Amino acid sequence: RFEGITMAPADPILGVSEAFKADTNELKLNLGVGAYRTEDLQPYVLNVVKKAENLILERGENKEYLPIEGLAAFNKVTAELLFGKDNPVLQQQRVATIQGLSGTGSLRIAAALIERYFPYSKILISSPTWGNHKNIFNDARVPWSEYRYYDPKTVGLDFAGMIEDIKAAPEGSFILLHGCAHNPTGIDPTPEQWKKIADVIQKKNHIPFFDVAYQGFASGSLDEDASSVRMFAARGMELLVAQSYSKNLGLYGERIGAINVLCSSADAATRVKSQLKRLARPMYSNPPIHGAKIVANVVGTPELFSEWKEEMEMMAGRIKSVRQKLYDSLSAKDKSGKNWSFILKQIGMFSFTGLDRAQSENMANKWHVYMTKDGRISLAGLSAAKCEYLADAIIDSYYN
Ligand code: PMP
Repeated sequence: RFEGITMAPADPILGVSEAFKADTNELKLNLGVGAYRTEDLQPYVLNVVKKAENLILERGENKEYLPIEGLAAFNKVTAELLFGKDNPVLQQQRVATIQGLSGTGSLRIAAALIERYFPYSKILISSPTWGNHKNIFNDARVPWSEYRYYDPKTVGLDFAGMIEDIKAAPEGSFILLHGCAHNPTGIDPTPEQWKKIADVIQKKNHIPFFDVAYQGFASGSLDEDASSVRMFAARGMELLVAQSYSKNLGLYGERIGAINVLCSSADAATRVKSQLKRLARPMYSNPPIHGAKIVANVVGTPELFSEWKEEMEMMAGRIKSVRQKLYDSLSAKDKSGKNWSFILKQIGMFSFTGLDRAQSENMANKWHVYMTKDGRISLAGLSAAKCEYLADAIIDSYYN
């Protein structure tokens, strides 16, 4: 009976790591998956994470089941980090927060909520977007369509197209927005553009749905990276936010994140939370405890919290410095006079190089540089020492 099952296609992002592993050339470089690496290109466990883990051990804490909604101390601090501690929406208890299985699991629970309570609504996602968004909404049976986002001519934002498409969507649609550090392009709206986006969303009674996977990791500041969400919340809008601690605390494999639903009353938030729990229970019963305790300890212990911010600045700073170095190397080596400054305008872990599929394949086949086929590279996987080599590879792939 299982004989009839066909082979599933490889995941386009995780498949890049497989190809990288199989390559035996010592020059090889993995710029596919978005995970932070040190200058020696090794994975990094934050010192604050180790300290928080020690605290858990010293206190002899147990491994009992969490409630369906997750660890209360985690849910409290995650909403505070996102909205800001003194945000009236928290004092008014208008936010329903439950712990999720990192960003992906939190998006998936929210998608299930949309499917159940808004069966006639669709969600608009940016073109392009993180590859898994389409999978998530397909699996949850939430219809989606795309809004214009990336303009290949400028390697920048197609702001007019974005606004037009959001305006044209049926009233009351969900609009998926990347809170900061858009994946895969690294292109974010300016504060002025964010205001205009909020204007059309509000006018059309759409519901914004933020995916916040890089808070603090993009600019180095937790507050700055949450400013888009906070601006929408300050307008009194209802909205959803999926959060992830994979990148900013390096907790990739712990699967820790949250889904927040900002409602118009405390009463509605209580009801929404009860339904989120109802959706979670048959899927995974309750979320994992370890990452939740790490986050609660890091954010809840003033000393660790300030140390976290320093480490995050260090990580964001390293990424910014290789971004600059890559730009410098490209500009120095490219004799055609092409302007590579779009690379400096992008933010976060990724850079969109403008390389097409065939050119991205040349990067792997000839140069042993692995990246997604949409032209995205993860700068978090690049070291200063490899910038020149990467610039050679990009220029060769671009012009040949
Ligand atoms: N959203 C975006 C935009 C992402 O880039 C990622 C990580 N690649 C996620 C969500 C989710 O990651 P995780 O499930 O590890 O939190």
